[in-house]
Amino acid sequence: MNVYFHTFGCKANQYDTDLVRQAFADEGAVVVEDPAAADVAVVNSCTVTAESEAKLRSFVRRLARRGPRLETVVMGCAAALDDGRIAGLRSVRAVVGGADPGAVLRAAGMPTGVGAQHAAPLQKHAAPLPWRGFRSRGWLKIQDGCDEHCTFCATTLARGANRSRWIPELIEEAKALAAHHAEIVLTGVHIGTYGQDRAADPGPSARGSTQTGVVGRDPGAPPRGQPTLGELLEALIAAVPQVRFRLSSVEATEVDDRVARLLIEAPRHLAAHLHAPLQSGSNRVLKRMGRHWYTAESYRARIEWLAERLGGVFGLGADIIAGFPGETDADHRTTVALVEALPFTYLHVFPFSVRPDAPAAKLREQLPAAVVRDRARELRELGDAKQRAYRASRLGQSADGVVSGHGVGKVELLTQDYLSVYLPIPQWNGCPRCEVTVR
Ligand code: SF4
Repeated sequence: MNVYFHTFGCKANQYDTDLVRQAFADEGAVVVEDPAAADVAVVNSCTVTAESEAKLRSFVRRLARRGPRLETVVMGCAAALDDGRIAGLRSVRAVVGGADPGAVLRAAGMPTGVGAQHAAPLQKHAAPLPWRGFRSRGWLKIQDGCDEHCTFCATTLARGANRSRWIPELIEEAKALAAHHAEIVLTGVHIGTYGQDRAADPGPSARGSTQTGVVGRDPGAPPRGQPTLGELLEALIAAVPQVRFRLSSVEATEVDDRVARLLIEAPRHLAAHLHAPLQSGSNRVLKRMGRHWYTAESYRARIEWLAERLGGVFGLGADIIAGFPGETDADHRTTVALVEALPFTYLHVFPFSVRPDAPAAKLREQLPAAVVRDRARELRELGDAKQRAYRASRLGQSADGVVSGHGVGKVELLTQDYLSVYLPIPQWNGCPRCEVTVR
């Protein structure tokens, strides 16, 4: 069977796709890059906005036009919340909520009996292989799910509560990933809460795993303290010192002193980069969003504290939602002022568009589309200007680059502070990690 894969959404989704892709390869399927050559397409979906679901449906329709015999299995977050609109697409063979490789294999119609071994523990697939040709960056999913209830987000519904993986298992997986990757990105849905679901580390004898590869808590285990993201990072760096780790999206106020110390003191081991969702600079809007664990002031204080200690080399990104229901012009101006004040090096701006399952869909004072669009445009322009200014400040300086892609005649390297630097192949020494000059 020839199988084509496509992933929408976050790095946690990319990790899940890697696991499923590995499971298909283990069962003898051929992974193809061209959907026209595939018998089955597996599409990992995202549910963050109504817009992302619309993009998913249009992509599935496009796939069907590329290969009239091609059937599609849709997995992931949007699949978990499907109201029938995905399942109803002509070429869709099955909709599988979540990311259980065994379930996706069966849904794709792999021969009888195949896939049973993928239904539970995923130890066999602990280190997804670098599929898209040479890839120096690997993903390590440290937790899944989230215990918060942001009113714009349906992720909690799709992925469930916070489930953290056990540190020794993560070290084992990181070691395997290090054989193929120079950088390992710690991913998850809410990684700042890593360990909060685990009163104690259960230890090797209590090892177990759920369908998503996330280990559950063992209530009988002796308490040995609740692990934290900082402790996990320290353990990973000690066990796998040859790679650079990077945090995917993490809440600014959940960067505790342990994590901060590593960012400041161990730049070869932990990239000087945070993607810290802000969503709004207005406390009133943050409250309506259900984001109760920080304020604009506490976000600002944490970022300024870090930026001061990291000096001029600090990649800082944020997600911002423009035009949330009830956002006044004054709220928007407060957000703009905060963005101007902080050393962001890029922004991801989302015009508010919520999927119907999320509580924000029912909030009063939904804003006219033109207002949402204008506010998003202003924030994007500001983000672009800050990105250009940061890059200009780094021109001619050296950086720690890890190969992240190949173009015609050149390689792309990602620096510790999340800049892409392109190097003509004749100037590249062939090493997956090397010092480069920002140009
Ligand atoms: S913190 Fe909020 S936005 Fe992030 S996954 Fe949890 S509920 Fe969704």
